[in-house]
Amino acid sequence: MFDVEEIRAQFPILQRKINGNPLVYLDNGASAQKPQVVLDTIQRAYGQDYANVHRGLHTLSTISTDNFEAVRGKMARFLGAPSEDHIVFTTGTTEAINLISYAWAAPRMQPGDEIVLSIMEHHANIVPWHFLRERQGVKLIWVDTDADGNLDPQAVLDAITDRTKLIAITHVSNVLGTVVDVKSICTGARDRGVPVMVDGSQAAVHMAVDVSDIGCDFYAVTGHKLYGPSGSGAIFIHPDRMAEMRPFMGGGDMIRDVHRDSITWNDAPMKFEAGTPGIVQTIGMGAAVDWMMDVGMDAIAAHEAGLRDYALDRLTGLNWLNVQGNPRDRAAIFSFTLDGPAHAHDISTVLDKKGIAVRAGQHCAQPLMEHMGLTATCRASFGVYNTLAEVDALVNALELCHDLFA
Ligand code: PLP
Repeated sequence: MFDVEEIRAQFPILQRKINGNPLVYLDNGASAQKPQVVLDTIQRAYGQDYANVHRGLHTLSTISTDNFEAVRGKMARFLGAPSEDHIVFTTGTTEAINLISYAWAAPRMQPGDEIVLSIMEHHANIVPWHFLRERQGVKLIWVDTDADGNLDPQAVLDAITDRTKLIAITHVSNVLGTVVDVKSICTGARDRGVPVMVDGSQAAVHMAVDVSDIGCDFYAVTGHKLYGPSGSGAIFIHPDRMAEMRPFMGGGDMIRDVHRDSITWNDAPMKFEAGTPGIVQTIGMGAAVDWMMDVGMDAIAAHEAGLRDYALDRLTGLNWLNVQGNPRDRAAIFSFTLDGPAHAHDISTVLDKKGIAVRAGQHCAQPLMEHMGLTATCRASFGVYNTLAEVDALVNALELCHDLFA
């Protein structure tokens, strides 16, 4: 039985006051807060169990390695991956997508080859492909959303040509909250022999993800948005794609033998994890995904659907507030502007005075902002611990903004 007050009690930071008001944390899209079990796990990993991984034979190194490696299985279960061997640890989605760009895409792309992207991508799923455009003459093919912020999967498939080498697409837009039908895209792309990289940064925190069902080749997540530590992340890589990848970074751990004139790589997935990893961050991420699975992804999704519907109703009831996009399927993420002179930064500052944390700016999604003809929006993004009363608090504070700036 999902009890939001019981969930809230597990997040110490939610007791904080900001500018004399109870914290209303609506910046989950940027990074989520951490439950006590994650904080305790980090404390224990450093305070009791710490040593480097994969290197020592002593007791602490063995414990640390076991705790670290156990996360691979947890993440595989969390993402519905058939095996933990398909999970590579990263510092977050940004590193994960760069890994795919350098390790898989760069060696196989020729000038004129194409990568299909949606206009809703985060810079993390744009800039690594721009590198290939600049360095190797790869063409970026953009697929727009409709006026409501829906992305038609067929439009993505229609963008495929015989030069398409990859589709790189977000599962949920960090700006509009649009849930993209990535399964249809993967199904259609597979029929055409085109691999699909899904950016799951915003999706995996809100809904159950099953990469086997989606049928994607790559699925990236970032730990700090999953109620875990910053500097942690993971990517599911289909074994066929993994077999095609060459290592991106060289160093310890990813290597089996190093001689004066030759090297032999370690087996995957460690072949793609050079150097000392984010040991405690990864262990903390494991505690976070365990915690989410214990709460239940369906229960989380149901709670957030209630928040989303209530927030949509209340926000669209303000006739001076412009909620950006009206996608048919959306997560509890809302970007908005106010009629009148108030800039998103002004709104965010006033909300902060009321203890309400939102994000203001371009949300690392400049092509989408240009597509929408906007320079900045405010974004309220909800998480598992938010309440209907916090939606009301947001609306009340926005009314204050309206009075101030009208
Ligand atoms: N992709 C999306 C959709 C995001 O929202 C974010 C973070 O905001 C990222 C990628 C990048 O994640 P990270 O900075 O954790 O690597």
